Amino acid sequence: MGISDGSNQHRAPQVALEASSPFELRVNLGRGVPESDVRTALATGDMGFLHSFTTGSAVDGPGIRVVAWTTGCQFRCQYCHNPDTWTMSNGIPVTLAKATEQLRKYRHGLKVMSGGFTLSGGEPLMQCRFAVKLLAAAKAMGIHTALDTNGYLGDRLTDEDLENIDLVLLDIKGWNADRHRHLTGMEIGPVLDFACRLAARRKPVWVRFVMVPGLTDSPEEIAQIASFAAGLANVARVDVLPFHQMGRFKWKELGLNYTLDQTESPSTEAVERACAQFRAAGLTAY
Ligand code: SF4
Repeated sequence: MGISDGSNQHRAPQVALEASSPFELRVNLGRGVPESDVRTALATGDMGFLHSFTTGSAVDGPGIRVVAWTTGCQFRCQYCHNPDTWTMSNGIPVTLAKATEQLRKYRHGLKVMSGGFTLSGGEPLMQCRFAVKLLAAAKAMGIHTALDTNGYLGDRLTDEDLENIDLVLLDIKGWNADRHRHLTGMEIGPVLDFACRLAARRKPVWVRFVMVPGLTDSPEEIAQIASFAAGLANVARVDVLPFHQMGRFKWKELGLNYTLDQTESPSTEAVERACAQFRAAGLTAY
């Protein structure tokens, strides 16, 4: 697999960078890249690994969004919809120049539709330098920028880096430390530290909370997240995202142990009850 730089010097990827949705299963697309190239790319940010670009999203930030989905994530959320994005080498190796060129195609349309560019994943900050450079390139084109992150690696971003991010979509997956570890495999502390830092800098944030029946739907825990988010004073809205099974086939294809096989989506009423809890704390919630 060659590195996609838009020239003929490298072998072109066999899989298109643009996807109809992030639910396309993608594996091993970057496995042929020499380890030394990967290390250099991660250090410089001149190359990154992307699952895909998608266009037309209306749920990943304000307006219509172009979304670049990175590969690589240190969390192992039990409800993850895209476990093929956990492994960086599952992504297509893409030069910064190529990714920037891709964005340039959309800049006028995005402005007309009051939309923008969202960098999502996986966890984009696993490729922090690439993420920072791509967001800076988008910003330099006058495109609204959003970073969708689990927040764990927020301290990799300098204050200057944050200037190129108009909005942070911050996942808060739970509140109780033990349950968060059980749910994601990682500690919650760095996530909350990043949330507080963003608040101190008055950086606009949308909190994203995935509601999974029997796993994350405790009213007590939702109330605690709501109270925390309301206290930050920079949370413009909360998205309560109902768990769904669109990623189940990926767990099976990848041979992973999927513990939520029998779990159903929350009812509309349950999602509305969670939204009401966030609203009761003074937040805007959908
Ligand atoms: S943080 Fe996102 S990409 Fe990573 S495991 Fe959790 S849901 Fe999946």
